[in-house]
Amino acid sequence: KASTSTTPSSVPVAHKAPLPPSSSRSSRIAPHSHIKGLGLNAEGRAITDTAAGGFVGQENAREACGIIVDLVKSRRFSGRALLLVGAPGTGKTALACAVSHELGSKVPFCPMVGSEVYSTEVKKTEVLAESFRRAIGLRIKETKEVYEGEVTEMTPSESENPLSGYGKTISHVIVGLKSVKGTKQLRLDPSIYEAMLKEKIVVGDVIYIEHSGAVKRVGRSDAYASSYDLESETYVPLPKGDVHKRKELVQDVTLGDLDAANARPQGGQDIMSVMGSLVKTGRTEVTEKLRKEVNKVVKGYVDQGVAEIVPGVVFIDEVHMLDIECFTYLNALLESPMAPTVIFATNRGNALVRGTQDLVSPHGIPVDLLDRCMIVKTEPYTKEQVAKVLQLRANIEGLKLAEGVLDKLATEGERSSLRYALQLLAPASIIASINDRAEISLEDVGEMNELFLDAKTSAAMISASENP
Ligand code: ATP
Repeated sequence: KASTSTTPSSVPVAHKAPLPPSSSRSSRIAPHSHIKGLGLNAEGRAITDTAAGGFVGQENAREACGIIVDLVKSRRFSGRALLLVGAPGTGKTALACAVSHELGSKVPFCPMVGSEVYSTEVKKTEVLAESFRRAIGLRIKETKEVYEGEVTEMTPSESENPLSGYGKTISHVIVGLKSVKGTKQLRLDPSIYEAMLKEKIVVGDVIYIEHSGAVKRVGRSDAYASSYDLESETYVPLPKGDVHKRKELVQDVTLGDLDAANARPQGGQDIMSVMGSLVKTGRTEVTEKLRKEVNKVVKGYVDQGVAEIVPGVVFIDEVHMLDIECFTYLNALLESPMAPTVIFATNRGNALVRGTQDLVSPHGIPVDLLDRCMIVKTEPYTKEQVAKVLQLRANIEGLKLAEGVLDKLATEGERSSLRYALQLLAPASIIASINDRAEISLEDVGEMNELFLDAKTSAAMISASENP
């Protein structure tokens, strides 16, 4: 158990290691790093003159998603889901990502693809359950005694009294004190300053002294603010021991992280190790029983006011890949009181519901689940819009495009898809650097087109060779 906590309400958590983000999840979110929100104005209308929130076009879809955000915030969306329908690369994932941004800055976003449930290791419904748990955040607030400021100990030269040599001529010492409330210039009685110095109460700052009516800089000194109450301007001698300050610390984890940590408990003082011993140790698998135990502990924290539940967003792309068993389970997950906001995406029209013999339904989703969905459509992009998104990504990735390159890539994008055009940026930049160029030139794009094919061209070539 970590011993750093000192208040009765505190959680046994040491705040050392940041949580390791799942690498596959972060690589899935990285292509959307330019998306900061839905880019709506106060009336909920899409801002169109700039790429607001990182979004280009898709005005209707953005406005519709804005309404969903309002419903979620006013808790009128529970038991329901948003279904995004549109061609590949039309920004469905980007919209889901924007919705999570709109719900709050630390809201977990957990994207998955329908076909992920068909893993040989884990039951299909377990995969879904895990995604839902990873989309529910837990914000743990802890009051802890912490060092305030960077300097914790004085080096010998710093601890020398800068006042020595001035004798009794000093009337005041002026020192900048740092505290949680900010920095303040203080005029201190020399005896107070010396008392602070003796206790090694340290702050890195330049100090001045007033003596014989003049102000003189005597060099760097360190005084520490936590013992000085800036409001009453009184100096409170510190208790023996460390120089510290009570401070509220916040740590964000997801229920999925807690499940995983408790399934594979390890010793140690970092957050996941400590949170990993909430419930009985020695497990290797996340089971429904373990989740229930984690829930119980979490509920305890919430009731004590130590933790707060932050429902996030679970995004299931290619939802038509799920089967009837998954859909049935999803209905139940949607009903659960701790459900995150659920967003599905598909590019299918009418399709057979997987796992059934003859149940054909819109988007391959059974009607009972469809009934719970609000459906929003994404539109294909124009060449100008493709160019704008390309430029946004090039800026984010720090790539320079020579004259004409944007137009060329946008033409490719319009012909195949926005996604394809975006994916050309990285290899083009590699070819440019092989050719010793600081910016991607038209020649590099040309060379790339000789090396790689887009899907339509490659399929056409194969069909041509099959039927000469
Ligand atoms: P798929 O159906 O294949 O999953 P998708 O519809 O989810 O595709 P995204 O992955 O959201 O498409 O879009 C592809 C890329 O284009 C992403 O990097 C995304 O952030 C970006 N993008 C898509 N639409 C827009 C837009 N309107 N404005 C800015 N960037 C966009």
